[in-house]
Amino acid sequence: AGKTTLVKMLIERDSGIRLSVSYTTRAPRPGEANGREYHFVDVPAFLAMRERGEFLESAEVHGNHYGTSRVWIEKEMAAGRDILLEIDWQGAQQVRLLFPGCIGIFVLPPSVEALERRLTGRGQDSADIIARRVAAALSEMRHLGEFEYVIINNELPEAIADLQCVVRAVRLRYAVQ
Ligand code: 5GP
Repeated sequence: AGKTTLVKMLIERDSGIRLSVSYTTRAPRPGEANGREYHFVDVPAFLAMRERGEFLESAEVHGNHYGTSRVWIEKEMAAGRDILLEIDWQGAQQVRLLFPGCIGIFVLPPSVEALERRLTGRGQDSADIIARRVAAALSEMRHLGEFEYVIINNELPEAIADLQCVVRAVRLRYAVQ
């Protein structure tokens, strides 16, 4: 639904938020750099990390493994930083159990057709992969009710404003202050 673009814009505008860089077994897309979008690792390396308990959460999405570094999160939390994870619903479920005070934000595309258009226009994935992603997005939407906030990414400026409002509201919570 354009999560990555929204997240990128948010962290550019809000220097107080740290974005977790996940580990993945997916191959890098054109323009992606190791350590920036993701830490790209092979399957044996990922499974070994998971075995050693190095992931706070991990999940298989579209046939690839993804995981969040436990050490990084613990370090940033100890420093009192605001942390953003861009993860799927399976990861969100695991994080919610570990940190009941976390806030989940679900980003929705305005329609299924709009999602198809966006994935096709990006020109990064084959028709087969796009069809798989659309199907996955539809099943992901079944978990909408598990999230505290929903942002419909229709017009990007409005969606980023909504996201910043959510961040502001979260920081204004009594428990946080
Ligand atoms: P992509 O391969 O398009 O970058 O990401 C595919 C999906 O995996 C997206 O829904 C993304 O949010 C999710 N994802 C990325 N990193 C992680 C992670 O560390 N954990 C989990 N559970 N999902 C992730």
